[in-house]
Amino acid sequence: MLAAEVPGLLNRIANQVRPLLSQGRLPKYIPQLGRVNKLQFGMAFVTLDGQEVLAGDAETPFSIQSISKLFALMLALERVGDDLWSRVGKEPSGMPFNELVQVDQEAGAARNPFINAGALVITDVLCSTFAQPELALLQTLRQSAGDERVDIDQAVMWSERDTCHRNAAIAHLLKSYGRIKNSVHTVLDTYCRQCALTMSSLQIARSALPLATIEGLSPDGACAKLSAAQRHSVTALMLTCGTYNAAGDFAARIGLPMKSGVGGGIVAVIPGIGCVCAWSPGLDDTGNSLAAGRAIELFAEHTGLSVLGSSTKTYSAQ
Ligand code: GLN
Repeated sequence: MLAAEVPGLLNRIANQVRPLLSQGRLPKYIPQLGRVNKLQFGMAFVTLDGQEVLAGDAETPFSIQSISKLFALMLALERVGDDLWSRVGKEPSGMPFNELVQVDQEAGAARNPFINAGALVITDVLCSTFAQPELALLQTLRQSAGDERVDIDQAVMWSERDTCHRNAAIAHLLKSYGRIKNSVHTVLDTYCRQCALTMSSLQIARSALPLATIEGLSPDGACAKLSAAQRHSVTALMLTCGTYNAAGDFAARIGLPMKSGVGGGIVAVIPGIGCVCAWSPGLDDTGNSLAAGRAIELFAEHTGLSVLGSSTKTYSAQ
């Protein structure tokens, strides 16, 4: 497939996933997210050589939720370096993202940065690093997205803050094992603010773009400060843990490093090429967007951009 054919492809994908939009479920455990119109779909493909292809609601902001775990990890790695890995592991949990029994059974160890336990530890690191961690993340994302409109949705933030009993339980468990240094209140507050960041598919794809960098190619942006080894760790974690306990299934179906959020966004990194982000609010049973997951699957199938190598299709920038 030629790059020039991608706009047509994204529009075809938007049509193909339309029947799925009404099927997914909204995450009612965060009441404000339960009020979103399910029938929205957007997709953005952004390349290292500067192309941006959009379809549907690609510029509509939505709650990035757990996609913030990716950006928080990138920022923490950039500031703290590889010492970060002494605080959080690199193993899939095989459990839902908000599992807490495993945290207790493993004496407060956080298996990886993309489950809530690990993300709370990363947030704790950011709380120790910045006076206003959520603002540091916000500024970083405004810069990497090249867009000052990236923001924190206060209604979503309060909606989660009022109802985050499971995350509070996880944070207290982590604290009881000495795994977080700041107060539970501070960490939870910051975590809810970072989850309430609102970005469009286009802004997310731009902000994840440094992860697609291979040697010799280096886009600007604060997150581009990661070393090659750090980018490899982050993308490997996206492949093995980025879509929670569906990560194995996603890897087998799609074969790209991905990170999802219960706001319905999924961003995928295509090393050496770029990033694709799809969004639709309706979720499957594992908390991943039904239509966005299928859209990225169709994208990988049609372009051949996947580590699976089963496709006879190839992508060419010219
Ligand atoms: N804020 C959500 C939570 O902690 C994020 C979960 C997600 O997007 N998977 O439950």
